[in-house]
Amino acid sequence: MFENLSTDEIISRGKEALMNTYNRFPMALTKGEGSWVWDVDGKRYLDFLTGIAVNSLGHSHPKVVEAIRRQAGELLHTSNLYWIPNQVALAELLIANSFADKAFFCNSGGEANEGALKLARKYAKKNYGTHKYEVVSLTNSFHGRTLATLTATGQPKYHKGYEPLPVGFSYVALNDLEALQSAVNQNTAAVLIEPIQGEGGIHPATEEFLQKARELCDRHNALLIFDEVQCGVGRTGKLFSYQWSGVTPDIMTLAKALSGGVSIGAIMATAKVAAAFEPGDHGTTIGGNPLAMAVGCAVLDVMLADGFFEGVLERSEYLRQGLDKLAAKHGVEGRVRGQGMMLGLTVGEKAPQIVDECRKNGLLINCVGGKTFRFLPPLTVEQGEIDEALAIMEENFSKVLG
Ligand SMILES: *Cc1c(COP(=O)(O)O)cnc(C)c1O
Repeated sequence: MFENLSTDEIISRGKEALMNTYNRFPMALTKGEGSWVWDVDGKRYLDFLTGIAVNSLGHSHPKVVEAIRRQAGELLHTSNLYWIPNQVALAELLIANSFADKAFFCNSGGEANEGALKLARKYAKKNYGTHKYEVVSLTNSFHGRTLATLTATGQPKYHKGYEPLPVGFSYVALNDLEALQSAVNQNTAAVLIEPIQGEGGIHPATEEFLQKARELCDRHNALLIFDEVQCGVGRTGKLFSYQWSGVTPDIMTLAKALSGGVSIGAIMATAKVAAAFEPGDHGTTIGGNPLAMAVGCAVLDVMLADGFFEGVLERSEYLRQGLDKLAAKHGVEGRVRGQGMMLGLTVGEKAPQIVDECRKNGLLINCVGGKTFRFLPPLTVEQGEIDEALAIMEENFSKVLG
């Protein structure tokens, strides 16, 4: 429909027609293949952001494209008033490969977290009484844009203007064992943690902190919820990031990478916890539809193939070493944080300028918290592409940092 519009025309018409909720880069993408995307002018970019950890198999992965084509020709939507074969298949795949016994599918990460919080409250009230509804989450976290999930998000900038916020939320600093200990009590329904904070700047929770959260939840009959919307589904080089630790949650939320680019969200839970939901307690009209479920199955099929994660981890180590070398060479104090293909590097005030220069040179990354690069390349990125990305970074580190 808009094939012949220039970038400038799209931007000026977009500013007229769309609500002003994003500071967008001045570009529009129209094509993608593997680790590469093209803008309307035909300029090619290496995509080390993958639509914020969504296109984890790269763009137009043949298995994903095939699943979409096949399902589109058969049946797109029925509603959850009927059984959906693909939904059962995806649930079984996720259950077979995680701690969970039950799945609920929805449309986004925020919706999955909203549902997880509802499940935790339902479970707590049913089993322990009406006083038990509080949620402890972390400062600097990100859990979504609905009223409950933005309240769980421990960053005041996301709360501003939306008050009054739902009650019962409190926050502790990531990896602060004592603060966590004093925050969790008999009124706590759930502790909500991203095993690696994404939006907050790629900050991993320590094994000790996750262990402590597990102990405190067990002691106070609270549920441990891991928000794996960004760090889950292969991103860290295991299918779920909690699998790096010895700590298992009661509830886990998924979205981004599971979608392959088609909206999806999932709440995974143990049977005991999931039993708190009865017919009518929670729902969605389009969530869990045959199309999204077919794509989710295709994504997992690719990731669960023999040797997939070994390759991811090898190439992630290669990227990490390259970035660390670059940081050291240009006097950047920090070192790379994160795991697998979810890496962050704090470089300071000039980070946004470097992001912009990299974009002009054909590399897409972004900046979180104004000072930290976030790298979310496709899990399938090739070593030669990592070399290309490092070369573009090197050039702009030199130009901007000297
Ligand atoms: C992106 C994200 C969300 C929100 O997901 P949406 O699909 O944008 O609603 C929630 N939690 C984490 C950790 C995220 O990274």
